[in-house]
Amino acid sequence: MGCAFQSLRRPPRHASLLFLRQTENHKLQTANRNVKLVRMTQRRIATRVSQLNGEGALAVFARAKELERQGRSIIHLELGEPDFHPAAPVVDAVRNAVASGRDRYCATRGIAPLREEIAHYLARTRRLSIAPEQVLVAPGCKMALSLAMMALIEPGDEVLYPDPGFPIYPSFTRGLGAKAVPFGLVEKNRFQPDLQEIAAKITVKTTVLIFNSPNNPTGTVFDDHALDGIAALAIKHDLWILTDEIYARILFNGEYKSISLLPGMAERTVIIDGFSKSFAMTGWRLGYAIAPVHVIDAMDLLVLNTFTCAAEFTQVAAIEALRDATNAVEAMVAEYQLRRDLFVQSLAKIPGFRCHSPEGAFYAWVNIEDTGLPADQVQKLLLEEAGVAAIAGAAFGAEGKNYLRFSLVSARHLLEDALDRIHRVSVKWRGVTA
Ligand code: PLP
Repeated sequence: MGCAFQSLRRPPRHASLLFLRQTENHKLQTANRNVKLVRMTQRRIATRVSQLNGEGALAVFARAKELERQGRSIIHLELGEPDFHPAAPVVDAVRNAVASGRDRYCATRGIAPLREEIAHYLARTRRLSIAPEQVLVAPGCKMALSLAMMALIEPGDEVLYPDPGFPIYPSFTRGLGAKAVPFGLVEKNRFQPDLQEIAAKITVKTTVLIFNSPNNPTGTVFDDHALDGIAALAIKHDLWILTDEIYARILFNGEYKSISLLPGMAERTVIIDGFSKSFAMTGWRLGYAIAPVHVIDAMDLLVLNTFTCAAEFTQVAAIEALRDATNAVEAMVAEYQLRRDLFVQSLAKIPGFRCHSPEGAFYAWVNIEDTGLPADQVQKLLLEEAGVAAIAGAAFGAEGKNYLRFSLVSARHLLEDALDRIHRVSVKWRGVTA
């Protein structure tokens, strides 16, 4: 049989000559491969990629995981990932959807029943009056956000965004060839935006203002004064408003007010929301945008040119999440509120730490200036010595340099443990400030 294995076993006739030829061939092949590699690495990567940033939380998470592998006990307060899972009817719905073959390509802008349900849900929870044609479903809020940004932002535009804020806003803005212009959310202003600062930063090139309320990382809910002021500026300067309402349901007081409800705003507003936080469905990758129909049409074309559609079975189950037959959202928010109160009250007893009680979302934004240490050093001390993973605030913008963000996504007994550990390790900076 002319089998390749047999010919390998046959002794070479001129073994030494063959060996020489083989090594020379090998050398040549290696040299060729190296030249090719050099050429490959020299070949250009589009400059837009060099404008993008990563997310600080993921770097801390990677180090925390490494410490865990070494046998250390770590309390994870770094990622914005709920420790809850979707309610049972949602899990049943996805199982049934897969079993009944809802696993095909589907409508690029999302299946009609989900878009209708989103319209009902927003009418019920946010008093918004929107048509299903104004809804586009995407795999995650980030994708809905980036589609909206691709649809609205031109190279050379200026885009206003909150500092501190979700790091993807400036990153993706720069990736689109536009200029990211921060506006501060500072403690002396209760982390509300300074309207005069925003007005002063608007130029003829400003086309979009992005904000997020409740804000990640400060937990601030923009008040009426801020919303009215931003709306007035948007109308005066003909701006698009991109409002990231991903934490709208995680609100500890009152009713959520979307800027889109203000007179003249629906036509210039894109709302971003989704299932990751309010329904604890981070890994399902499901978000949506609400916008005027011509914006949705533009985003729909981008969908067609990129990911085609979000998975149909997750969309079918998302309808169940929105209906929330077991009142899972209310129970989850009540638990977040207990965690917030526990964490903020106990944190006040830790020397050098200061924290406002967040009005929404599930983050504690802690001022560490009085420790006398830079935030990245406090972050390191907490992780390496106390086994508590949190993120130094600079990951959310320059205004975050004296802060740490703690995600309250661990059970109360773990938060208590984390607080004890932080208290113990705080002797390190008590020495510094003394
Ligand atoms: N917007 C904000 C403000 C966020 O905090 C996050 C996630 O942390 C996202 C968007 C991304 O959401 P998703 O996981 O649905 O893409």
